[in-house]
Amino acid sequence: MTLMPGARVPGRTWTVRLTGHPDHTVSVTCSTAECKMPPRSKDAASMRRFAAEHVKAHGRLASARPNAACSCGSAQCTLHETAVHCAGTSLLVLVHNPAVGQVWTLAEVCQACARHIPHITILATGKPARPTSTAPSVEQPAQRAAVPGGFSSPEAAPDPVPGQRRPHRPNRPRRSRS
Ligand SMILES: [Zn+2]
Ligand SMILES: [Zn+2]
Ligand SMILES: [Zn+2]
Repeated sequence: MTLMPGARVPGRTWTVRLTGHPDHTVSVTCSTAECKMPPRSKDAASMRRFAAEHVKAHGRLASARPNAACSCGSAQCTLHETAVHCAGTSLLVLVHNPAVGQVWTLAEVCQACARHIPHITILATGKPARPTSTAPSVEQPAQRAAVPGGFSSPEAAPDPVPGQRRPHRPNRPRRSRS
């Protein structure tokens, strides 16, 4: 595989697998060698639960990387039948065929491959890096024409009490006819 410097990192895959043994015990293995797996057990149901949880835990920790190459495409698209040209955003997907039921595959694949992979669950999308949060999207300032809430209309202001104007009659001196 040739990698252009700084362009893409190889896509990762994890495979968790249940294996049955002749003594009717089941073991679970993970492609990550450091993972601690429970000992072989006859309790197949709990081993299956463990395997499903384990691969999900890998998915939560891994998250999708925008610069990840498609692990499907770099393996000749073994996860699906129709060959495609890898394209689109990098996705973190979980592939589990319930009919087989013993293999869980977590993989970083491209959108084009993801469309062709059966029994797939998209766990995360490696979106292209956003502008950092120090530069939030520019919001248009609120239009000044809008009337701010709570503005009382001018009519509401009462006039200064007209009714209390005291009628004042000038005290005219009466002329008495005499
Ligand atoms: Zn593991
Ligand atoms: Zn593919
Ligand atoms: Zn691909």
